[in-house]
Amino acid sequence: MQFAMFAKFDKFIFLKMIRLDHVYKKYDNNLVLEDINLSVSEGNFVSLVGPSGAGKSTLIRLLIAEEKPSRGQIYVRGFDIAKLYKGDIPFYRRGLGVIFQDFKLLPQKTVFENVAFALEVCDRTNATIKNRVPQILDMVGLSTRSKNLSHKLSAGEMQRVAIARALVNKPKLLIADEPTGNLDPVNSWEIMQLLLKINSLGTTVFLATHDREIVNSLKKRVVTIESGKIIRDQKKDGKYIL
Ligand code: ADP
Repeated sequence: MQFAMFAKFDKFIFLKMIRLDHVYKKYDNNLVLEDINLSVSEGNFVSLVGPSGAGKSTLIRLLIAEEKPSRGQIYVRGFDIAKLYKGDIPFYRRGLGVIFQDFKLLPQKTVFENVAFALEVCDRTNATIKNRVPQILDMVGLSTRSKNLSHKLSAGEMQRVAIARALVNKPKLLIADEPTGNLDPVNSWEIMQLLLKINSLGTTVFLATHDREIVNSLKKRVVTIESGKIIRDQKKDGKYIL
């Protein structure tokens, strides 16, 4: 399985964390993404902004290999992901951290178990799990919640668990699709501080959001998408201008 994966690896493209070349996505006759060209270097923090229906989630679904582009190339960490075999996709995703608006936790499991699960599916040893889960829970500020059932947490805490789970395998890229969509302004801001910290520790962050205030206060790169097209790419101190 891994051999098939590496057959799709291009060492020259590996210089970029994400690269999209002339990407189009069509659903039936509806063109949802049109000629998307985008390059994200290792260590970047990029916010993808745009109004509802602009195509942000579609772009994320392409990046996590949930769907294939209708045309164009997508490289993530050097892998030509449109050409991955179905059996390679779980392996590819293990190299990514992904978080969503609705957290996607296992509600009847504890905080510890939710995070440990991401290590178990990668066949990590019990010793690794016992060592690494407390470390990552400490990083997201949830050490004291380890034994709590996840459905009893606040929304902000749930998103922290999701972040811990996304990071526990030490991915080089974290993809976040509207991570503050279910959070109040205080929790939203705390989650953003955590994403900034994760980025400062070396993880590339690709964030899709329509939260104008947050984007404007980040002072990072901002890519604006409207009606499926990138209309602006501000490399520094970007603003949500729509
Ligand atoms: P955003 O995340 O920016 O709100 P989306 O990527 O969810 O935008 O949607 C972009 C457009 O693509 C919308 O017009 C939406 O209706 C359409 N779309 C998204 N997913 C599908 C799908 N599976 N089938 C058909 N149309 C879709």
